[in-house]
Amino acid sequence: MHARKRAVKTQMSIRNTIGMSDNSDKNRVREAVNLVELINEFVPLKESGREWIGICPFHDDHKPSMHVVVHKQEAFYKCFSCGAYGDCFEFIIQYLKKDFVDALHFLAEREGIELTGNQSDEGLSSRGKMSRAMQWVSTLYVEAMHSTPEGKNALEQLHARGFTDESIEKFSIGIAPDGWTFLTDKLQNNKERIEVAIEAGLLRKNEEKNRTYDTFRHRIMFPIHDESNATIAFGGRRLREEDEPKYINSTETILFHKSKTLYGYNHANSSIREQKKVIVVEGYTDVIACHQAGITNVVATLGTSLTSNHADKLSRVCNEVILVFDGDNAGQLAADRAIEVFFRKNIDVHICVLPDGKDPADLASDVSKFNDCISNAVDALTFKFNRLNSSLQDETTIAGKSNLIDSFLNEMARLGVEHLDSSRKPFIYERIASILHVPIEEVSKELRSRRPTQSKPNKSQEVLEESPALAASIPRARQLAEHEFLAVLLFNPTESSAALREAKAIISVSDFLDPSSVAIADYILPKLQAGTLFTMNDLIEGIDAKSENIATTLYFVGQRISGTYNSVSLALQMTRNALSNSIEKQAINDEIKNVKNESNSEEKTRAAQRAIENIRRQQTAKRSS
Ligand SMILES: [Zn+2]
Repeated sequence: MHARKRAVKTQMSIRNTIGMSDNSDKNRVREAVNLVELINEFVPLKESGREWIGICPFHDDHKPSMHVVVHKQEAFYKCFSCGAYGDCFEFIIQYLKKDFVDALHFLAEREGIELTGNQSDEGLSSRGKMSRAMQWVSTLYVEAMHSTPEGKNALEQLHARGFTDESIEKFSIGIAPDGWTFLTDKLQNNKERIEVAIEAGLLRKNEEKNRTYDTFRHRIMFPIHDESNATIAFGGRRLREEDEPKYINSTETILFHKSKTLYGYNHANSSIREQKKVIVVEGYTDVIACHQAGITNVVATLGTSLTSNHADKLSRVCNEVILVFDGDNAGQLAADRAIEVFFRKNIDVHICVLPDGKDPADLASDVSKFNDCISNAVDALTFKFNRLNSSLQDETTIAGKSNLIDSFLNEMARLGVEHLDSSRKPFIYERIASILHVPIEEVSKELRSRRPTQSKPNKSQEVLEESPALAASIPRARQLAEHEFLAVLLFNPTESSAALREAKAIISVSDFLDPSSVAIADYILPKLQAGTLFTMNDLIEGIDAKSENIATTLYFVGQRISGTYNSVSLALQMTRNALSNSIEKQAINDEIKNVKNESNSEEKTRAAQRAIENIRRQQTAKRSS
């Protein structure tokens, strides 16, 4: 107990001295929790060098794959086998299958911390400031709903579509009035708050005229909340039919990542957990109509198909997902994507295709009809099998049939049927066998022979090799050089920051090509250069999920490299040189490619001259820096 109190104190004082503490409930609780002690209560941990290791509870682990880092101000865990990672909240959310709010209360109680429910302005992080701005704007939009002519019009439209005042209030629907400066005017030239509003995507800047204007104008505003009920973004629907586009969504910010967010989850969450079932629809108004009709386990994706982040989140709180689509082709494609995402999760996926172009909002008014549709939803694989069956029936030639079967089997193999757990695999083999009229052994043999070269899915490796389209255009050596340099920065921000500033090293985000490197660099470089520090947990909250996973892996890479050179600054210098060389090599290759691509011989000579000049210039620049 005493040791724990001491550890807590050290963690907090480090945070305070580097001025990064904010007073939100979340941060106070996170600072108080000793992560090793917390995890050790559920999973025995052993000390190993700088870290603690244990058997990962999130996959079928035999030798300890989970590493827990509590070093300097860091406190996070990472599994090298299944890729699970996070802070104390994430651990409780995953291990005890709680949602964020419950995890917060659970840990606050454990640490004897009284939750205040709000944040003080003093020392508020940039997330805190943005969050506060979002909340303030949401209130303004709701007020405008009841005090402007546009609001009156919006209310009439919503009532005409059957929405009650109660629903409008529950979902905090508001209005962005007509005009360019509704928010700008309210901000009364407060520079700092204007900056925050720009960052939050609420305002845009006209650089030429040096003026700001509102992003959302003359639109019905649907605030989007995170699971702790904080406003993190907006969706704006046009009020006049002639305005384009129909919907405008907030851009992604440090608070808002589309791939992680589900609209309505804050209202649906307890019902989802009670029923162990979630219904996923496609639009805001579908969610609201369903909730109004008393169907409360309904959420929507935000203009994306379901991602593996969504699937992770949902598989923690329920064991059945019903995806509702209207019957067009886009729906079928979205269904395919969703099947892929859910395939390896331990969760049943059902597909519900609505009849004759109806959307959920149309159907929700007749609850029994809606429920009929939902209960007729077929499981995702049956959905796929049915489609294969009907295409087989439509296909008259034997060659055509065999092509269909061939591509179906390829897809099954690609999805990884071979790696499914033993409770699901036989079922799927049986289904395939009965459709193709062949023995089960034959199916198993076929699928094995089509097995994708990459065997067992290894999440951390998978992530490092992902982003196929872009990654293909980035040489592997370049990606590696970027990652290794960032790794050292991530492992020891304090020393890296000092070393970078001392060396007056100029590194910019534009030095990076790999999308995840760009996301990480964009977050950490300004902080390192300014000497304001960050922890892995800060970073995790500020970037997209794929980059998070890479960043947590890179921490350990950075640890290894720093260990090899026995010095952070030397490790930094070496990885920085490797990156510079890689950048230079690529620049030369690009120039050569330009020359090669030129067919006209005069142009070719000129391109070659330009290339030589460019390469020289770069080398001079490098020598002088
Ligand atoms: Zn694991």
